[in-house]
Amino acid sequence: MERPVTSPVKRLLFGTAGVPHTSEGDSTLKGIERVSALGLDCMEIEHVRGIRMGADTARAVRDKAESLGITLSLHAPYYINLLSADRGKRLASEKYILTAARTARLCGAHSVVFHAGYYGAHPPEVAYEEIKKALKNILSVLKSEGNPVALRIETMGKRSQFGTLEEVLFLCRELEGLAPCVDFCHIHAREGRVNSFQEFDRVLRKLGRKLGPRALKSVHFHVAGVEYGRKGEIKHLDLRESNFRYDEWIEALKQAGVAGTVICESPNLEADALMLKSLYHSKR
Ligand SMILES: [Zn+2]
Repeated sequence: MERPVTSPVKRLLFGTAGVPHTSEGDSTLKGIERVSALGLDCMEIEHVRGIRMGADTARAVRDKAESLGITLSLHAPYYINLLSADRGKRLASEKYILTAARTARLCGAHSVVFHAGYYGAHPPEVAYEEIKKALKNILSVLKSEGNPVALRIETMGKRSQFGTLEEVLFLCRELEGLAPCVDFCHIHAREGRVNSFQEFDRVLRKLGRKLGPRALKSVHFHVAGVEYGRKGEIKHLDLRESNFRYDEWIEALKQAGVAGTVICESPNLEADALMLKSLYHSKR
């Protein structure tokens, strides 16, 4: 019998987007060891430029993470675009998501995170239907394979990208097996707001309302500082160099009692992940 990879965590875990900078090497195995040595809890494997992990490595990664008690997720490639005008590219994008989910299963990652695509010439309602159709195909294949990995669609930071909070939550409500990856710096950059305790709290309440209270006990969040302009996100920043009110954000997470994983995507990765974790545990 396959061991379950999606066992829900009962607390909030903090970790890095990819291998910490202070690791001895840039391999996923070294990254997991470093995350553990730092006292962090989780790591997102960044396959953002392509999925290159073979089955043997995946098994070694799974064993290492299990022995050190590190929770894993996997980020699918950035070049995925389920809305491409080119049908071949759309089908290839579906394949990349499937490959990412299969790799995630092999290495024991509980979730695979992906960016759905760019609206291009599609009005948002058409984009929504197109993406829903593509995800339905992907989810039915994963179901037939008995793949227990959660497929997580990310909220996106550029206005040209599909993935407002509403779009993401509506899709997750409609499609069984689809879950959200809520990126708070993307929401902040896209909307130019959502940067206070009240607003963070509102996002969490909406998540609970649309997807049920259990969704708040298995969150997957991305966080970082962010520079943004009229079109949304420009680039990620270290938290202290940004205007993101991370103290109020942590307060909102604490008060809402969320459990799950927080992945830090600041350029300084582990430094901000550790800062957030200690801030979280310093609050009562
Ligand atoms: Zn992402």
